[in-house]
Amino acid sequence: FNVPVPANEPVYSYAPGTKERELLKQAIAEARAQQVDIPMYIGSKEVRTDKKVKLSPPHDHQHVLGYYSQGTKEHVKEAIDAALAAKKDWENLPWEQRAAIFLKAAELISTKYRYKLNAATMLGQSKNAFQAEIDSACEITDFLRFNVKYMAEIYQQQPPVNAKGVWNRVEQRPLEGFVFALTPFNFTAIAGNLPTCVAMMGNVVVWKPSNTQIYSANVLMQIFKEAGLPDGVINLVYVSGPDAGDVIFKHPDFAGIHFTGSTAVFQDIWKTIGENIHIYKSYPRIVGETGGKDFIVAHSSADIKVLNTALVRGAFEYQGQKCSAASRAYIPQSLWPKLRDLMEADIKSFKIGGTEDFSNFINAVIDEKAFDKITKYIDRAKESPDAEIIIGGEYDKSKGYFIHPTVILAKKPDYETMREELFGPVLTVYVYEDDKFEETLKLVDSTSIYALTGSIISQDRYAIDKATYELRNAAGNFYINDKCTGAVVGQQPFGGSRGSGTNDKAGSMINLLRWVSPRTIKETF
Ligand code: GLU
Repeated sequence: FNVPVPANEPVYSYAPGTKERELLKQAIAEARAQQVDIPMYIGSKEVRTDKKVKLSPPHDHQHVLGYYSQGTKEHVKEAIDAALAAKKDWENLPWEQRAAIFLKAAELISTKYRYKLNAATMLGQSKNAFQAEIDSACEITDFLRFNVKYMAEIYQQQPPVNAKGVWNRVEQRPLEGFVFALTPFNFTAIAGNLPTCVAMMGNVVVWKPSNTQIYSANVLMQIFKEAGLPDGVINLVYVSGPDAGDVIFKHPDFAGIHFTGSTAVFQDIWKTIGENIHIYKSYPRIVGETGGKDFIVAHSSADIKVLNTALVRGAFEYQGQKCSAASRAYIPQSLWPKLRDLMEADIKSFKIGGTEDFSNFINAVIDEKAFDKITKYIDRAKESPDAEIIIGGEYDKSKGYFIHPTVILAKKPDYETMREELFGPVLTVYVYEDDKFEETLKLVDSTSIYALTGSIISQDRYAIDKATYELRNAAGNFYINDKCTGAVVGQQPFGGSRGSGTNDKAGSMINLLRWVSPRTIKETF
């Protein structure tokens, strides 16, 4: 296909003594020294309002990074109008010209803005340097470059066959109307991917980021503009969910939503779209990645070090704030005492604190609401006869929203933290008798209301095969002898079913195909 062959962006280590580490530290210091006044981006305008909302690092909530301008329903209407006004020119651009803009954006992030975007993610979303790097340097550039490849494949597909005297063609039209991108705080890459992969296919977009990701969304938007994205193709607004919903889902030109966020919000959106279905020109595309309650199942043959690493990294990297985070583990009795010691030693060695100090592994959770929700579960576990906190359990929000990595032992497999998504640094372990492996697989499947990610850790081929089969519907991304987080674009297309979403695999051709509406043309001579 006629586009550059993508390769995954290399991950910088930021090890002590490296030039990259100094440049990143400098970018963080520069960002901390400023207070940005972040506008909405609607058509050609940067829109500021009188309602300024303060942005602070979750790990340092007294520090002010800047302010964003809160918008209203009027701004959503303007954003839709700007999108629709930009539509004709955008969709008529040859796809190669659209592709070049996104490849340029990837290049700008990889080179000129790597440190600035990482610093924004570290300060605004409280990610450590490594977690920021794999997100806002690597995953976003991978999304942009690989999606361009999938786009090229879609536009250069094998044409249909032709009967004599006939010419058949399939034309990949953009959707008729505008698309709404509603994006999460936990990955700058996902926030950037949801609007761009839609726009790539010739669509125009209204983008509403999470309020807690606006700081890095602003940097992304400036990069997209510098890369040559025409005004109005992606419009970035900061409004409340109800204000956005009231305007967007009641608009006849609403053509689809690209969503990552909570299951509850996605279900509400689906209902609202259903209620308004008669007003739209077409059935809207509804593409969403939602919650997870991701599992790691160990077989008694598991390599205990592999198991420990999978659990500790899968559960606690980025404070467990990944839809893919390991939050429930099923451990055979024979491995538990040794595993518990290994986990305890690792977790006690983790330093906790702000992202400016690169030796901190655990940073803050995103905001006070998340902190209060997670710590309530911890408090209840402290009281419950069905649970025991065996590691961690401490928390403190005086300077930032810090929660120590916590391991809960559940005495019953349906204890609340084995079922519900906390989105925080809490892992719940259920210990099963070694000879109950097959029953345990059935238990995991039957309790998987979500089905995003999961792992089997085993050295026994039969157990691996059995788990792979029995859990075939319990996870859209299934890992054998690895943690259940960290899908890499181009390597492990990402997404799940059941309560976890529509499984339209982020970073794949499946996803991009949702943003076109093919027209078949038959010409008879
Ligand atoms: N793709 C990420 C991973 O594999 C998770 C994305 C999410 O949290 O939504 O860890």
